[in-house]
Parts: sequence; C-alpha cells; structure tokens
Amino acid sequence: MEVPRHWRLNQQRYGLVGELCDCGARLFPPRDVCPECQAPAKTPYTFGGRGEVYSFTRVQEAPAGYEEYAPYTVALVKLEEGPLVTAQLTDLEGEPTIGMPVEMVTRKLRTDGSRGMIVYGYKFRPVVRT
Ligand SMILES: [Zn+2]
Repeated sequence: MEVPRHWRLNQQRYGLVGELCDCGARLFPPRDVCPECQAPAKTPYTFGGRGEVYSFTRVQEAPAGYEEYAPYTVALVKLEEGPLVTAQLTDLEGEPTIGMPVEMVTRKLRTDGSRGMIVYGYKFRPVVRT
C-alpha cells in the first residue's frame, strides 16, 4: 500500500521526523542520501524535539503570510541528536541567548494567502524549568 505524499509531509510538519542511516548519522530534514557516507538512508527517525539555540536572527520584514508575526526571531537550533534545524522561536520573554535550551512545539505557522488556509508546523520555545 502506498503512503500518500501528504501524510509524509504532515509527519515532517508535526514532528521532527528525519532519517537514520546505517552509519549512525541522524538526518534532518530527511534527504534520502546520507551526507556522511552517501548511502541511501531510509529508516524514519523521530527526534526528541529538544536542543539549544545555536544562532538566531531577528526578522523585521516578514515574507508573505508571516506578516502578523513580524518582527520575530528565527533560530538555528542544534538538536540533542546533532542536526541543526531552522525554526521560528516562540513564547520568548526578551532576547534569546546562544546556548539557551529550547523544545519543539506545534503552532500555527501562517495563514495561506487568498484561501485563508491555516498552516501548522513546528516552532521552538524556551524550555520551561520547573
Ligand atoms: Zn550514513
């Protein structure tokens, strides 16, 4: 049975599903060929969704569909498992800092133009310490 393409896309949007290579490399986003060893990587791997801020930029002028969030902060997040992921930071109180622990949350990403379709995806927020 063939898995519909949109299902696979949804998996990428709602969770950090990447791929695990036989060499041990964990890939995100999934790219089917391992950058470490050039072998095909086909095993799905779900990342834990935790990491730390590796670098960040303040976006003043948002691209179409993201205007309601501007200005906002986009960070390069280094996942605990290794890969770097680009994502918007949310629930920030003040400026983020390099090395700040963050975790993935599913949030409304944008409203899609004329049809008003709401697109959900992942963002990262500071880890709430208890
Ligand atoms: Zn590999």
